[in-house]
Amino acid sequence: MGKLQEKIYNSLPYPFKFLLLNVKAYQNSKKRYTKEFDKFLKEYIDLWDADVNEIKKYQKERLSLLLSEALEYSDWYGKIMKDLGIEKKDIATDPFSVLRSMPILKKSERKSYPDQIVNTKRTTDGIGHTSGTSGAPTINYLDTESINRSFALWRRFHHAIGLDTKRVKQVRFSGRLMVKPDVQKPPFWVYNYFENQLLMSTYHLKEENLKHYIKKLNDFKPILLDGYPSAIYILSRYINENNYTIDFTPKAIAVTAETLYDYQRFEIEKAFNCHVYNQYASSEGSPFITECTKGNLHLNLDSGVFEFINTQGKEAKPGEVAQLVVTSFTNLKTPLIRYNIEDTVLLAAEGKRCDCGCPMPMIEKLTGREDDILWTEEKGYIGRMDTAYKGLKGIVQSQIIQESPKEIVINLIANEDFNADMEKMLLHNFQDRLGTKVEYQINKVDDIPLGPNGKFDAVKRNFSINL
Ligand SMILES: [Zn+2]
Repeated sequence: MGKLQEKIYNSLPYPFKFLLLNVKAYQNSKKRYTKEFDKFLKEYIDLWDADVNEIKKYQKERLSLLLSEALEYSDWYGKIMKDLGIEKKDIATDPFSVLRSMPILKKSERKSYPDQIVNTKRTTDGIGHTSGTSGAPTINYLDTESINRSFALWRRFHHAIGLDTKRVKQVRFSGRLMVKPDVQKPPFWVYNYFENQLLMSTYHLKEENLKHYIKKLNDFKPILLDGYPSAIYILSRYINENNYTIDFTPKAIAVTAETLYDYQRFEIEKAFNCHVYNQYASSEGSPFITECTKGNLHLNLDSGVFEFINTQGKEAKPGEVAQLVVTSFTNLKTPLIRYNIEDTVLLAAEGKRCDCGCPMPMIEKLTGREDDILWTEEKGYIGRMDTAYKGLKGIVQSQIIQESPKEIVINLIANEDFNADMEKMLLHNFQDRLGTKVEYQINKVDDIPLGPNGKFDAVKRNFSINL
C-alpha cells in the first residue's frame, strides 16, 4: 500500500476495512494458488524426504536455469559474467563452479540497482517494497512463478510440521499496519476470508489491550499462529503471568522475520502448550531455512544455495558464527546470486544429522541480523545476549543498543519485581559477556518503539566493525 492509500484505509470503519482488505486478498490468492502452485507444492513435498542425491540434482538444475537466465536477461549479472568469460556451456557443465567464481552482491547494490539486476525475460506480476533499517525501501519485482514457488515452499514447511496442505485457520502477527495506531478499543484485527486468517495488529499490544486479544483468540481458535516472535511473546508472557486460560491448543506456532530467543520460545510454548517452529526467509526472496518436527533447522536446498562466510571473510567451519550468503530459486525476476543478506547463523557441529526423515543439512541457530551481533575489545563478537536475562525477574521487554565499542545502552520495560538486586545481577551478567571496560547505561522506559516493518530490535549495534 502507498502512503496515501494507507492513510485512507486506516481511517475507514471496520466493515469497509474488511471489504477492502479482502478484495486485495482475493486478488493475491488468485495469483498465489494456481495450478502451478499445486504442482510446485507436490514437487517440494516429495523433495523434503527424497534421497540426498536427488535433492542435489534438483538443486543443480535450478541453479543452471537461474544462472543461464541471469547471463542472458539481466544487465547486471550479464555484464559480470561476460567480464569473467562465463559462457552457457560452463553453466551447463558445472554451475556450482560458475557460482563460486562470481562476486558477492552487497545489500547496497541490491537496493540501488534493481532495474539493472532484473531478469527481462520474465514478466512483472507483482511489486514488493521492503523498508530496510535505513528507511529507504528496496524494490522487489516478482513474476508469478516466483510467487507460486515461495508460497508452495511456505506450505511445504507447514506440511512438514504436521499441518494440512489446505489453508488452515490461522492468526498472523505481522508488521502490517491494518488498524489505526491510536485506536483504543477493539477490534485490533481484521479477518482475511480468502486465507482463513485473522490478522492481528502488532502495534496495539499494550497491557490494557491484551485481554481483548486473548478473548478474540479463544473465540477464533486458530490451528496455526504465526508471525513475529516478539509480538506472540508479549501476549504469552501476559497469559502466563495472569493465569489466563487458553481454551484451544494450536497444532503449531511458526515464527519468522525476527530472531527467536530462547526465553521467548519458553514463554510462548508454556502459554499455548504447543511447539514453536522457527522459519527463515526474506521478502527479497531468500531461500528457506525451516525447523522440523525434531526441532532442527534444515537448509531447504531445493530453494537455493547457501554459503557461509566467517568474521574473517573466509569459508566458515562447523560450529562457527557465519554470515549467510544466499543464491535463491524463489525470486527469478529479481535474481539474488551470492547475495550477502546480512543475517548470521551458528553452524552445526560437524556430522550432525537429523532423524526426522529430511536429509537436507542443518544449522544450529539463526542468530539474527549482522548488526544484532555486538563487539567489544575485551570479548570480541557476542552473538547471543538472551542468556544474560536468565533468572532475572520483572523484565517485560528489553533492548540493547551499542553505540560504540565502549558504550552499551539497555532499555528496559520493567515491573515492580525488577528491584535493585535484579539490576545488579543484570549488570553482572552483561559484564560477564561483554567485559568490564564498557560503560553500561540502564534506562527504565515506558515504551520501546518498533523498528522498520514493525519489527522489534532486541539488539542493535550502531557502528561498523573495521578490524
Ligand atoms: Zn529434521
